[in-house]
Amino acid sequence: MPWNDEYWEKEEVLPKKELEELQFKRLKNALTRAYDHVEFYRRRLKEVNLTPEDIKRPEDIVKIPFTTREHFAQNYPFGLFAVPKDKIVRIHTSSGTSGKPKVVGYTAKDIETWANIVARCLYMVGVRKGDVFQNISNYAFFTGGLGFHFAGERIGAITIPAGVGNTERQIQCMIDFGTTVVHATPSYALHIKEVVEEMGVADKLKLRIGCFGAEPWSENTRKRLEDAFNIKAYDSYGLSEMNGPGVAFECKEQQGLHIWADHYFIEVVDPKTGEPVGEGEKGELVLTALTKEAMPILRYRTGDITILENEKCACGRTHPRLLRILGRSDDMLIIRGINVFPSQIEHVLMQIPEVGDNFQIMLTRQNGLDEITVRVEVRDEIFTGEIWDLKELQQRIQERSTGKAKRVIDLRSV
Ligand SMILES: [Zn+2]
Repeated sequence: MPWNDEYWEKEEVLPKKELEELQFKRLKNALTRAYDHVEFYRRRLKEVNLTPEDIKRPEDIVKIPFTTREHFAQNYPFGLFAVPKDKIVRIHTSSGTSGKPKVVGYTAKDIETWANIVARCLYMVGVRKGDVFQNISNYAFFTGGLGFHFAGERIGAITIPAGVGNTERQIQCMIDFGTTVVHATPSYALHIKEVVEEMGVADKLKLRIGCFGAEPWSENTRKRLEDAFNIKAYDSYGLSEMNGPGVAFECKEQQGLHIWADHYFIEVVDPKTGEPVGEGEKGELVLTALTKEAMPILRYRTGDITILENEKCACGRTHPRLLRILGRSDDMLIIRGINVFPSQIEHVLMQIPEVGDNFQIMLTRQNGLDEITVRVEVRDEIFTGEIWDLKELQQRIQERSTGKAKRVIDLRSV
C-alpha cells in the first residue's frame, strides 16, 4: 500500500545521509552473500586477496572486480545463483553473447521486491488505483512484460497484459476499456500513433500517462508522443541482470531518471579504463544489485553510457538521477527493444555453408518500427541455375563494398 498520496515508499525521500548508510549496509550484505554462496564471486575476490571485511567504506567498492555479460555466459545457466534451486520461483532470460542467453533467477522475496520497485516508479508518475494500464510489452522470457504487470496490479490499476503487435486491436482495446496508462517501446508507440491517425480515433482515447523504455529515445520523440496522445511521456530504464524494469525512472519533473540507491549501488566509470569518472562526467553505468536474494550481482558493467546527477530533485526524492542513456559502450544493437549483437547474427550466418565471409547489417526505421536487413555474400557454387531471383540476389550482394566491410549501417534517426 502507498506510503502517502505522493510517494509509494518512504525510502524515496530518505535524507541523503540515511540513504547512503542504508545503501552501504546493503552492499556489505550483498557482498557477503555473494562471497559465501556463489563460487564464482568467492574465486574472483580471492584472486585479488579480498574478503567482504576489507570493504570498510563505500569507496572501497572499486577493489571488487567487475562482472560482465561474458561471466553470465561462462556460468550458464545457474552458476551465479546464491540460493538452492528450490528457492527459485521464476526465471527470465535475455540475449547474451556467444548465443547463450543471460539467465536471471528470482526468489519469492525477489519477486516482491521487484514488483514494489516498479510500483514505486508507476506511482511516481501518477498511476493510481482505478487507472486502466495497458502493458504493451513482450511477455515471453523478457522482463518488461511481467515486471510492469505485477507492479500495475500491486498499485490496484486494472492491468491488461496486451503484449506487442496487432496494433489495431491494441487501439480498439484502448478505446473500449478506457485505457489511461500505457507502457511500450518508444518506437512501437510511434507506430501506434500513426495507426491511430489513420483510423482517425485520436479523440476517442483517454490516455494520461505513457511509460517508454527498452531503447534510447529523444526529447523530440517525447514531444511527438505527448502531442499525439495528449499524455505525459516518461522514460524507463532497466535491465534483466538488475531485476528488469524499474532500475531508474523519470519523475514528473522529467529532468532525468531517479535511480534507486536503496536497491542498487551506482557507479559511473570510464568504459576504457574502468576508473571512476568525475562528478557530472559521462561514463559507463556500473551497478551492484543490493537486495536480490537469488543473484547478488557485483559491479556489473551495463555497457550503457550516461551521466549521473546528484543534485536534489524538485520532486523531493533524494535518489540520484541518470541524465538519460546516451548510448552503448560497445556494438550492441537495440532493435524493437530487444538486444541484438552483430556477433549473434554472424554466429547464425556462419553455420550456413552457402554464405561467404562477408555480411552487412542495415538498420532502418519504417513507420516508427526498427527494420533490420542482413546482406550476405553467397558462394559462387550456388549460382548454377538460371533462376532470375538468384541473379538478382547475386547483383545485390555484389553491391557490397570491397575491402574491410563496415558491418553495421544504422540509418535510424532517434
Ligand atoms: Zn524527481
